[in-house]
Amino acid sequence: MQDFILTDEQQDLVAFAKDFAEKELKPVVAECDRKGEFPMEVYKKFYEAGFSTMFVPEKYGGTGASSMDLVLINEQFAKVDAGFIVSATTAEFGVTPLRIAGTEEQVAYYMDRVMQGQLGAFCLTEPGAGSDAAATRTTAVRDGDDYIIDGRKCFITSGGIADMYTVFATLDRSKGAKGITCFLVEREREGVSVGKDEDKMGLRLSNTADVVFDNVRIPAKNRIGAEGEGFKIAMKSLDRSRGVNSYGCLGIAEHAIEEAVAYAKQRVTFGHPIIKNQGLQWMLADMQIQCTAARSLLYRCAEMIDKTGKYDTELGSITKTFVSDMCMKVTTDAVQILGGYGYSREYPVEKLMRDAKIFQIFEGTNQIQRMVIGGQMSR
Ligand SMILES: Cc1cc2nc3c(=O)[nH]c(=O)nc-3n(C[C@H](O)[C@H](O)[C@H](O)COP(=O)(O)OP(=O)(O)OC[C@H]3O[C@@H](n4cnc5c(N)ncnc54)[C@H](O)[C@@H]3O)c2cc1C
Repeated sequence: MQDFILTDEQQDLVAFAKDFAEKELKPVVAECDRKGEFPMEVYKKFYEAGFSTMFVPEKYGGTGASSMDLVLINEQFAKVDAGFIVSATTAEFGVTPLRIAGTEEQVAYYMDRVMQGQLGAFCLTEPGAGSDAAATRTTAVRDGDDYIIDGRKCFITSGGIADMYTVFATLDRSKGAKGITCFLVEREREGVSVGKDEDKMGLRLSNTADVVFDNVRIPAKNRIGAEGEGFKIAMKSLDRSRGVNSYGCLGIAEHAIEEAVAYAKQRVTFGHPIIKNQGLQWMLADMQIQCTAARSLLYRCAEMIDKTGKYDTELGSITKTFVSDMCMKVTTDAVQILGGYGYSREYPVEKLMRDAKIFQIFEGTNQIQRMVIGGQMSR
């Protein structure tokens, strides 16, 4: 299908990203998926080609790409492998708290390190604090002009490969959400270490790891926003990111549809290609309908950010939920269309189904999103 809303420049960007992803990323996907490994050599080329600094505003030396441009580029990468692009773009996710509550100096410092090819990571989740993020146990204690951070974060995307962490820690557990404060912690600080690498079902090219903070001393200038504002900053950061970050689902679903159609055209049963069966055509049609509707919602979310500079909590949650549910359904149906071969690792669709699942879980599960949407509706 043609997408007539894209400008010539955007079509060029899409072609550039598609070409790079096909040439540089595709050849390593199967092996990295088997090993559960982030392809660092491909990331280096990705950085050299300018992709990792596209989100950085021009005043800090980046391209200053719009949300829409970033969605279009990331969608092309996700079509080849969603895990790679999710991990390769965590610098943008990690800077969100600074954009919301950081000082100009803090943002400039972070962006400068991104311009040198460094990655960031967003460290909110802990073993006992996932959906219930206010249950954070990682502590921050003020000590003169410093803070001492102590605790363990888990399931951190790019946790093992990032150079900067935005970390949420509590100054006073008795205050719950109001005790949480956000900090920027550099990887090179004494006491920072990477814990276990998560051996995941899908999205295996992304790096997911525990990050441990063992009495890490950081200067007070690394505090992002005021003491006690951390929970609000975390929620606002997720509001900003979760809608547009659904690009991963779009790429996965588009890939699954292409594979399903190609297979259905060549697989013959009862003397004719299976695509000639109306039952399968309707399945494929539903997959295409859902994917096209999801794309419109996601592009709308990105356009709204570009046109108004605003992030809508409800629209972000609706987009994240709809697009990830669509992706799970479409990839499951793609496996069905390939029959037994869909279930075999020799064909790509089982991987797409494994990759799809996480999008219903991270950045707030789809149950939590429905709570957010319902909460907004009942105000
Ligand atoms: C691959 C991967 C990458 C991740 N990346 C990051 C990252 O970069 N940074 C980060 O901070 N975190 C990250 N996470 C963590 C992720 O955001 C959490 O796993 C997620 O928010 C869910 O938390 P939980 O796993 O503790 O599940 P729980 O909160 O224990 O939830 C378990 C189940 O209960 C449901 N549930 C919980 N509370 C309610 C309720 N009130 N009503 C209805 N249902 C409820 C949930 O929907 C879920 O189905 C990542 C996780 C994974 C697996």
